Amino acid sequence: MKRTIIRNCMLLDDGAEHGVISGACVAVEDGRIAYAGPEDAYRPEEGPSDTLDACGALALPGLINAHTHVAMALFRSAANDLPLQEWLNDRIWPLEARLDGEAVYWGTMLGIAEMLANGVTAFSEMYFFMDDIARAAEAGGMRASLYRAVVGLYGDGGRIADAVRVHRDWDGAGGGRIRVGLGPHAEYTCSTAVLRSCAERAKEMGCGLHIHVSETRREHEECKERHGMTPAKLLKSLGLFDVPCLLAHGVALEEGDIQLIARSGQVLAHCPGSNLILASGVAPVKRMLDAGVTVALGTDGAASNNNLDVWQEMYLAAVLQKGVLKDATAVTAAQALAMAAEGGAKALGCDGSIGALRPGTRADLILVDTDRPHYWPLTDMKRHLVYSGGARDVVLTMVDGEVLYDRGEYPKLDIKRVRAKAAEAAARLFGG
Ligand SMILES: [Zn+2]
Repeated sequence: MKRTIIRNCMLLDDGAEHGVISGACVAVEDGRIAYAGPEDAYRPEEGPSDTLDACGALALPGLINAHTHVAMALFRSAANDLPLQEWLNDRIWPLEARLDGEAVYWGTMLGIAEMLANGVTAFSEMYFFMDDIARAAEAGGMRASLYRAVVGLYGDGGRIADAVRVHRDWDGAGGGRIRVGLGPHAEYTCSTAVLRSCAERAKEMGCGLHIHVSETRREHEECKERHGMTPAKLLKSLGLFDVPCLLAHGVALEEGDIQLIARSGQVLAHCPGSNLILASGVAPVKRMLDAGVTVALGTDGAASNNNLDVWQEMYLAAVLQKGVLKDATAVTAAQALAMAAEGGAKALGCDGSIGALRPGTRADLILVDTDRPHYWPLTDMKRHLVYSGGARDVVLTMVDGEVLYDRGEYPKLDIKRVRAKAAEAAARLFGG
């Protein structure tokens, strides 16, 4: 048994003064949390332990990126200040047409390095060249739910069969860190037959789905014209809600959609940064929370964000609802933090096994240096984290008990090689 004791840390505790306790420790045994609480109450069993001194930092569950296309890190800032359809049709799709497995692998590695530095421990991916993404997730050590993208207005072009193969080859890889589902891209890029087949295959394989839903008003209204119902209602009618179906964006959702999503128990991945950059609008998150929908947070791809920083999404998730609704109570700091942790865990189908620091959960955690001026004075730690803090405060990131990022260093990655290879791939994509 391998045991690591993270000593001298702080832990969030809603019942404690300022919402935090100090003098705590977290014991990790074989990649799981065995203890998280006051250090003087910890009674380890016999056996050797490694000790990691947190130097007073705050231990938090790792943040979870519930909707992204990690390899798009290669397209960071390559196309901005354009409306979504122009951005997608004229810029992104031509670039994606030039992608190959090598470029996707190094783009994903680059995104993984970025997420680890930002305190993100898990992500939910929808893209193609999925074997290369799985190899990168396995090598990089992150937890990932991978959904092979399926598009097809006239048949699926063999993509569903390939998704089934990816599931067979990779589901459960990386010591169980990698899970695989199907990613029908969206209502406007898939025929109803393709959507229905995705749902059927997912049911057969016992896996989940991941799809873009009502990202823009235009897409939402065009679906109503085409099918006489909203995208959410169409997906439900085609059987996609018979399995866990992670819904990305939901900017244009109507009240009936929200009620339907709540009843179906599906998770909405809110991507406020991407929705703002592409001028799509602001998702009705407050109404979703009121209806009982679980909301998680996603960065979307770095081509429309332009980073993979879940801290920014937490901040936006809280302040946008206040601003749009002119209601300062609309979404609290605690709710925004819960979206990035527990909400993300549910989005990835890992409900109860990540997203919290308690005995039995996987040791996906981060250390945050709160000994910095923007955390002083200590009044309310969750508010500090969401409104004052940021990715710059993350000093250590651990996944499954393994340290993957430690004060600028990557024990498992050759970061200089990642940078050089990603630059090489980008040069090939953008070059003549
Ligand atoms: Zn997306």
